[in-house]
Amino acid sequence: MESLKALHTFGFDSLADNVELITCEKDLVRLGSINTPIHILGGGSNTAFINDFNGTVVKVAIDGYQVRTTDEDFIVTLGAGEVWHDVLRRLMQEQVFGLENLALIPGTVGGAVVQNIGAYGVELSGFCYQIRGFNIREQNPFVFNAEACEFGYRDSVFKQLDNHYLITQVVLKIPRNNTVVANYGPLQSLSSPKPQQIFDEVVSIRKAKLPDPLVVGNAGSFFKNVVISTEHYQNLLALWPAMPGYQIGSDEVKVPTAWLLDTLGFKGRFYGGIGSYDKQPLVLINKGNGTGQELLTFSRAIKQKVYQTFQIVIENEVLLIGEIGEITL
Ligand code: NAP
Repeated sequence: MESLKALHTFGFDSLADNVELITCEKDLVRLGSINTPIHILGGGSNTAFINDFNGTVVKVAIDGYQVRTTDEDFIVTLGAGEVWHDVLRRLMQEQVFGLENLALIPGTVGGAVVQNIGAYGVELSGFCYQIRGFNIREQNPFVFNAEACEFGYRDSVFKQLDNHYLITQVVLKIPRNNTVVANYGPLQSLSSPKPQQIFDEVVSIRKAKLPDPLVVGNAGSFFKNVVISTEHYQNLLALWPAMPGYQIGSDEVKVPTAWLLDTLGFKGRFYGGIGSYDKQPLVLINKGNGTGQELLTFSRAIKQKVYQTFQIVIENEVLLIGEIGEITL
């Protein structure tokens, strides 16, 4: 058995039968002979190992960084195991702009694609050109274009592909004449910002609002934000006039889940060693002695209370892994 404590940012003392480290494509061949459950892991910043895992954790640590310039675009080819924020810092230094709103999102490049990271009005999917990888079950390479990735809000086809499509390389296409996106929330206060200013501002906002996983165990926002019908929102607004909402088209409204949790008094509240962070209730934290079971119990209680009060079903953004695979809340 091998410890998973250092492999996921919640830092629970869970074990796995085996951990396979993949640093290059040649390593992938070894995976063909595994006949127990497999869990593919990047930076472990969006996964919580609730129990011991009866299978093999495949840690993707493939590196690679290359920028090619065409007349119109930067073509950026990255190993899936590269740390997302380190890549972003390098791109900023090399004057490759467009991704600055996605600063300081934890995790690896591969994980960023699986989750289709997004922040402050920019989503990674808008820049994905080609995703290369390996189908572990069939022992075949695959190449997906952006359309085949079926990107959605914090979602992609890789979340549905039964955990055997391992991303090895990500190719991004970033237009050279890209313009900054500064019309979102706190970025609006910057006047005619340059990309570097956006980057610095996002870093500083995130540092102020979010706990550092090296200090306090957490995996960022634990729940996704929710989208409800405009009619549902209007009904709720009659009872909760302060409820924020962002209209999406004419039929739907996006509601910040953090507001729901705050309103229900979860902010700063603890269950055992697990609590809701006092500066951002959407982030659940491990005080140090928290357990996966406490996380499960607490997050289920939050989900139930949100449903009872607002008739809104919230979903976990963090992937919960139990003895043989994903656990649903
Ligand atoms: P926030 O900015 O307080 O926003 C909370 C919610 O309100 C989100 O659903 C956000 O939509 C929505 N919202 C806020 N301003 C909006 C606008 N002008 N137009 C449309 N929707 C708006 O959220 P936060 O928790 O502090 O996070 C800051 C940013 O980081 C957000 O963009 C959030 O999505 C992002 N984030 C990304 C990840 C990830 O990719 N893994 C994890 C955590 C947070 P959006 O979600 O569409 O922005």
